[in-house]
Order: sequence, then structure tokens, then C-alpha cells
Amino acid sequence: MTKANAKEIEKRESADSLFLGSDGGDDAYRRAMAKATDAVLDSVGDGEQPYSGQSPESLRELFADESMIPEEGTGVEEAIEDAKSILRNSVNVSNPTCFAHLHCPPAVPGLAAEAMLSATNQSMDSWDQSPAATMLETRMVEDLCSLFGYDADAGDGVFTSGGTQSNFLGLLLARERFAAERFGTDVQRSGLPPRAKAMRILCSEEAHFTAEQAAAHLGLGENAVTTVETDEDRRLCPDALDRTLSDLHERELVPFALVGTAGTTDFGSIDPLSELADRADEHDLWFHVDAAYGGALAASDRHRDRLSGIDRADSIAVDFHKLFYQPISCGAFLLRDGSRYEHIARNASYLNPEGDNAPNLVAKSVQTTRRFDALKPYLTFKAVGRSGLAALIDGTVDLAADVADLLAEDDSFELVAEPTLNAIVFRYRPHDDLSDDLLGWINEAIRESLLREGEAVLARTEVDGVSALKFTLLNPRTTLSDVAAVLDTLERRGDSLCAVSPEVSR
Ligand SMILES: *Cc1c(COP(=O)(O)O)cnc(C)c1O
Repeated sequence: MTKANAKEIEKRESADSLFLGSDGGDDAYRRAMAKATDAVLDSVGDGEQPYSGQSPESLRELFADESMIPEEGTGVEEAIEDAKSILRNSVNVSNPTCFAHLHCPPAVPGLAAEAMLSATNQSMDSWDQSPAATMLETRMVEDLCSLFGYDADAGDGVFTSGGTQSNFLGLLLARERFAAERFGTDVQRSGLPPRAKAMRILCSEEAHFTAEQAAAHLGLGENAVTTVETDEDRRLCPDALDRTLSDLHERELVPFALVGTAGTTDFGSIDPLSELADRADEHDLWFHVDAAYGGALAASDRHRDRLSGIDRADSIAVDFHKLFYQPISCGAFLLRDGSRYEHIARNASYLNPEGDNAPNLVAKSVQTTRRFDALKPYLTFKAVGRSGLAALIDGTVDLAADVADLLAEDDSFELVAEPTLNAIVFRYRPHDDLSDDLLGWINEAIRESLLREGEAVLARTEVDGVSALKFTLLNPRTTLSDVAAVLDTLERRGDSLCAVSPEVSR
């Protein structure tokens, strides 16, 4: 054997243990995955607190002696062993009292799919990088179109990183269509038309901030978003919309898109979608529904009606990494009339050569290299069925109603609004003489102290200028007694804060 040959063999052997496809690599994968699984199970155990309570300073300390780019490696198993401290100081999203945000416990079929899609590493930008995955995603999009009442043959769409990207895609198509039809401008080629300064997007004042973010990224600016008042249930008010439309008209501004929200982040409120669809028809607006949160109701026989009118939307954003229990990231953008994609048609000739009849999804997305996230909801629907998922979703909506009753009956708390989905906004309010400032301060102090002790992870929001607390009860394993126990802790913490602050106690 020549010296050069021996070197080649050595190189090959060390690569073999790092990559799949040889006995050495396959065995290393099996051992690494088993070890990683144990590390995960160590960190999500029952009875533990949802967070270790570490501060930013102490977490920086955790990595103080470590280089993120060490010169020499330790081998994968030791590296996984070391990573346990990261997992132990992560919020445990599977814990029943981790209920701050729209941040779900991931379901086991989704986790299995995640392992499969990352190991096979298909890339959704061209057929020759993801043949079966491209077909599966295409079929999944068709069936999602049907679930939302679209005609599956006419509809189209794509998996996205989440609501942010799906909302952007909806408003991008809305802008392109309007500029083409109204001003004869192909924005993709020529940039914004001179009249772009007058273009307006309408949404409710409770809409997600990504509507403004999209307007900024689309070159229209955040000021292109005109917010419309909501009613007492925090739903976009159609009468107010009519007034806003005539006001814009008088000022020679041109609305081109109307964003309805199905499940606002704080209250879960659902805009009156049918009435918005009527207005959109009447005024030639692109109707986009941000159903990132509430879209999951489409799977529920009991609650599907609340989305009525969503089938008339031009486009829909739905997230699977919220109420569909999929690991991050996983969302979809759905388009009622797939031919609208022509407005952003691109031909990356190396991915999508002209005359190539294979389906290439690259032109439907704003991403190029893209994950095969469709496998996760596919596998989950397969494993538990639509009805199985619906039962989970329905259970969380029921729990939220029970928690609202609990809060309404308790003199120490103020229920800010009846929940629509499973988010509940409330305040600790021991008596009615507190100023807004003190009320806000004490609620924030409670939240921080529970997080610092790691006892419960809840969110804060602001309602009418005053801080409030929020539970987002996504976890189907959370019970009424879990929530009641947190409310007890919360009340005790509030009472002791009152005791040490003379201006708070009566
Ligand atoms: C979460 C959410 C978004 C943002 O979606 P991401 O998945 O975080 O990108 C947008 N709109 C609503 C209503 C949401 O709940």
C-alpha cells in the first residue's frame, strides 16, 4: 500500500463515522440519536418546574469557560452529554404550567417526522432535490385548501416558516396584483409605481404586528397600514371599516388589501370574516386572513363555524407550530386562486429550467433552500386523525372557559375578557382602589417573580394602557387543577408584594 493510499483510507474512515451510509456512520447515528433522546427525556420530566429560573447573567456564566468554536472536538456523545445543561435551562414547553405564549408542546409524531426530515435532508426548491417530498407537500396543500373550503383544484400554496412569512406572501401578492391591474406596473421588474405612496392596507387595531412589518418590507412603509377600530369583543368592526374606507377615499388614498384576523394573539378574537369578505368584494381589496392561531379550528367539528367566510379569502396564513402541536418551524400559506402566483413567477434557470415539466416549488415561496416541514402535520394527521387533533383542540378551548369561570368567581382577580380560543387575559386585583400604575406594576412584578423562581411561565400584555397577565392554554395535558395551583401561587405572591409595599396595600 502506498503512503497516499493509507492516508485516503484514514480520511475515509473518519468521514464514515460522521455521515450516514456506512456501518460506522449508521451506528454512530443510532447511538447519537439514542443519547440525544435520553438527554431530551431527562429535561422534560414530570413534576419538574417549567423553568430553572436562571437569569441572563447566570446563563452567560454557564458558557464562560467554553469556546463556541473549539480547536479540537470531543466526539458526538460527549458533546451531547455537555449539551444537557442547555436543555435543563430551557423552558420546558411540555410542562403543563408553561403557558405564556402561542408556543406549543410538540406532539410525538411531529418529533419523529422532524428526525426523519432532517436526516433525509430534502430541499423543497427543486424536484430533483425532493421528489416524493415535493409531491407530498403538493398533496398536503391540496387537502389543506379543502379543509379551509377552497376548491382544491384551483387553490395552491406552500409551506412556510410561519405566520410572518405567510402574511408577507399574502400582502406581496396583493401588492403585485393591485399595481398590475390599477397602475399597469410590474413591481417585480420595475419597482414601486409612483402612486405607491397612496396604497393602504387595512386591518384591525388588534392585528398582528407582522402586517406592519410586511408593509415596511414591501417598500410601502408601516404608515401604509391603516388600523380599524374593534368592537367590545375586540373584533374588527365592519361599520368602522366602512367609515375608514370612505375617509381614505376622500383623502385620495387607495386601499388594496384587507387583513382579517382569525385568532388575535392576545384575545383569540376572530374578525367577522364574511362581512369583511363582502367589503373586500365591494371595494376590490385583496382579502387575506391571518389564521396563524385560530386556523386550527378548521379541524374541529364543534368550532369550525367560527371561521365561516374564510373560504372567501384570497389567501390564508395558518401555523402548525401553534395549535396544531408541531415542532417549530411549520406554517402554510394558502391561495384560493393558484394562478395568482403568476405575479411573482420567477425562473431560477438552474433550479427550474424552462421546459422542465417537473413540479418545482421554488417559485411559490420566498425561500430557496427550504425544509420539508409538511411531513410533520402529515405524520401527525396520519397518526391521530383529524378527529384526534380536533379533540385536543376542543379540550383546550373547554379548559379556557373553565379557567375564565374560576377567575370571574375570585375576588382577587379581574378577568379582562371572556376567552374566544384558549388565551386568557386577566389581572391580579386585590381591591379596587389601586391606581393603574400600581396595578400594572404589581402584575408585572408577579410575572417576573414566578419566572425567576421557575414556578410558572406566563405572559404579560397591555390592555387599555395597563399591564395584564396572560395564560395561553395550548397544552392538552394542562388541567384545571394545574391552573388553579398557579393562581394560588400567583395570589400569594401578589399578597406578599402588597404587604411590603405600603402604597399598594389599602
Ligand atoms: C404567531 C402569529 C403570527 C406570527 O407567526 P410566526 O409563526 O411567529 O411567524 C402572525 N399572526 C398571528 C395572529 C400569530 O398568532
